Amino acid sequence: MSQRVRVRFAPSPTGPLHIGGVRTALYNYLFAKKHDGDFLLRIEDTDQARYVANAEQYIIDSLNWAGIPYDEGLGKEGKHAPYRQSERKEIYKQYIQELIENGWAYYAFDSAEKLELLRKQYESEGKTFSYGWENREQLESSLSISAADVQKRIENGENYVIRFKIPKNETLHLTDLIRGDMKIETNTLDDKVLFKSDGMPTYHLANIVDDHLMEITHVIRGEEWLPSMALHQLLYRAFEWQAPQFAHLPLLLKPEGQGKLSKRDGDKFGFPVFPMEFKDEKTGEVSRGYREDGYFPEAFINMLALLGWHSDNDQEIFSLDELIQAFSLERVSKSGAKFDVAKTQWFQQQYLQKKSDEDLATMFAAYIEKNNIKIPEYIQDKSHFIFKLVQLLRERAVFVSDFYKTGKFFFETPTVYDEIAVKKVWQIDTKEILQNLEELLASTTLFDAVVLEEQIKNWITEKGYGMGKVFQPFRLALVGSMSGPHVFDIAAVIGKQETLNRLINIQKKLS
Ligand code: GLU
Repeated sequence: MSQRVRVRFAPSPTGPLHIGGVRTALYNYLFAKKHDGDFLLRIEDTDQARYVANAEQYIIDSLNWAGIPYDEGLGKEGKHAPYRQSERKEIYKQYIQELIENGWAYYAFDSAEKLELLRKQYESEGKTFSYGWENREQLESSLSISAADVQKRIENGENYVIRFKIPKNETLHLTDLIRGDMKIETNTLDDKVLFKSDGMPTYHLANIVDDHLMEITHVIRGEEWLPSMALHQLLYRAFEWQAPQFAHLPLLLKPEGQGKLSKRDGDKFGFPVFPMEFKDEKTGEVSRGYREDGYFPEAFINMLALLGWHSDNDQEIFSLDELIQAFSLERVSKSGAKFDVAKTQWFQQQYLQKKSDEDLATMFAAYIEKNNIKIPEYIQDKSHFIFKLVQLLRERAVFVSDFYKTGKFFFETPTVYDEIAVKKVWQIDTKEILQNLEELLASTTLFDAVVLEEQIKNWITEKGYGMGKVFQPFRLALVGSMSGPHVFDIAAVIGKQETLNRLINIQKKLS
């Protein structure tokens, strides 16, 4: 590859960025970095009707959070600035003019109402209306109206659009780096609108002009744009520009059944479809995000990378650098990738398990602070407490929040006891046993898990109680249920006073 590789992510700020969009950005980023090239961010905001004010910042923040930085684009202005299409209007005007002059585009004055009527009329005859080679000379276009009249109508402020004139009777040969070769008959294409009288280009024109001016070598984008590829090729030809190479990525599919992954699927199966929480400023509706759900960006990215791409061996865990090394468009699949909720959590768990106790403790401390969780008074050394909880609970944790969720009893004295457990564990002699245990522990000075274990076990043997008869109600007293780590560890963490307190509480409550 002699030319410097340049790719772009070109989202439209019409709402929160879907995780499919993040994956498109990620694949572009990986491809660029693999080939020592540039990754650009361009905002395609020509559709003013669908513009959402906070979407642009959301896109930038999402890319930053996910850890896929762009080299050039909004806020990182390079020689092709500006990178927001609404600020490039003048540029498109010049190019649409060129297409008109060369006979590749024409004015059309047909009103929206008239076209709607035609559409209905065709429909009633079982046909579909499309503006193109079959009818463009009979409609109100500059192909049928004299140049002078066209001029007059424009000067009179009439609304118009400028359409691309698709050539007739041609077979186009298209190549996609993922899908291979395709043939398209130009007679099946309609004359798409490229420009409107409000001075705004449509997506097709702006996209091609910018990709050319920004020296984009590879267009890597979602499969929904595949039908536009023929028109885009023709536009490159009309401008006599070299077209970039195209790669259309497979869709992200619903966890079950057919179709594109939607927000509704997320709500139904309980997972986010957006990288970060998004607040719709009009409706006030808040959509959940991976960031707020507690996913690590590395886990999120790793999961996304494997939705539609796989390595040549069975490796699943990849750092970003490893992804850059391993990534290739050849290994992107043609068929859609089914979203897998359990697998997504699995990735998060893998990344959490790889972290050191120290790192997890720092994160857990931040979580405690952010959520205003009170560390109980019976805890003397707060950092040690946090560190200990991480050590005791990490094995089964998926998210940092799990240290709190599965370890709540470390923070709060139980006030209720799991009914099923009570039925099973609480027997006639239990109260007496716990009372004796209480006495034993009251005289214990060193509240250390190992010491306690040895001491209590010896005591049980001496008394002839049987282990389960003591440990089970002891656990119930400390936790409120039969879950949690080793009971001696719990006792050591909450300390002597609180352990005794909990033993007294359960006796009062259950007898
Ligand atoms: N603005 C388009 C979008 O929102 C970009 C499509 C493309 O990458 O060409 O997806």
